[in-house]
Amino acid sequence: MNLFGRRDKAADGLRRSREGWFGRLAGLLGREQMDEETWEQAEELLLGADVGTSATKALLHRVQDRIRTHSASPGGALETLKEEMRAVLANAGTPSLAAADGPPPLVILVVGVNGAGKTTSIAKLAALYREQGKRVVLGAADTFRAAAIEQLQAWGQRVGAEVVAHKQGADPGAVAYDAFQAARARNADVLIIDTAGRLHTKSNLMEEMTRVARVLSRLEPTAPHQTLLVMDATTGQNGLAQARAFTESVECTGIILAKLDGTARGGVVLAIGDQLRVPVLFIGTGEGLDDLAPFDAEEFVEALFEGGAREARS
Ligand code: GDP
Repeated sequence: MNLFGRRDKAADGLRRSREGWFGRLAGLLGREQMDEETWEQAEELLLGADVGTSATKALLHRVQDRIRTHSASPGGALETLKEEMRAVLANAGTPSLAAADGPPPLVILVVGVNGAGKTTSIAKLAALYREQGKRVVLGAADTFRAAAIEQLQAWGQRVGAEVVAHKQGADPGAVAYDAFQAARARNADVLIIDTAGRLHTKSNLMEEMTRVARVLSRLEPTAPHQTLLVMDATTGQNGLAQARAFTESVECTGIILAKLDGTARGGVVLAIGDQLRVPVLFIGTGEGLDDLAPFDAEEFVEALFEGGAREARS
């Protein structure tokens, strides 16, 4: 499915990764003979690309095992690695933004640490729905920072989405409540709710997420239909640890991986699949409103290596 014609953006967003670690890996695995040293180099490149220790070891183990047992892809080590990467991503689940059964609006709760790209991603998502002619309401439930409320209001104006906001310090549950009521009253198709990225303690933050979700489910038992976690691709394994704190506390249905254009370490997608077991739904490919591309595991793996072997050999 070509969701909104943004596929080419995904490949663009991976340019650094393709020209960096993965290009070198493609050159390495494209060799006729693989010896001990080559496998060690492959391991270093995967670790360098932020694939993470556990996924790196598992991937290479599977590839070597398949080569040994003659069940490797006819395309050789590189193609076998790609197949195994797709398997890791498939294990994390199938991305879907479809509405759960239940009356509209589709309620999307967005969580993640400050600076990850949460507000920008919400605006991009809202713009995507607006392009499809959908009516969108935004809820400014990150009441911890005044700037967060203002930022969301500014984006709302740009994309043509009503923003429901209270004052700084207000109860985020109350904002979620009002935003839902407003969305229902306006026959909105989609309600996207921003949440705080930082409170005094981690447990406060997680309690707040749970409370906002509870307010919504009291208003509509099937809501929130999606809880999307925004992660900054440039923060690598550290970002992954922060993301885990969220996935362990709230039930995250998908990940928006922001700033993939800003890193050569696109392998973090595999670490997410391996460690968090939450599917990546979208990737952020820049700061603009249309810099959001739907994630497709097949295309992602291809784009990581596309032309890489040729470039590395030449
Ligand atoms: P929040 O604190 O999580 O709400 O983060 P913001 O949405 O304010 O984003 C933080 C910074 O990251 C801003 O300067 C954004 O323009 C930038 N940003 C967000 N998403 C992307 C992306 O996909 N690519 C790039 N290059 N920058 C991004």
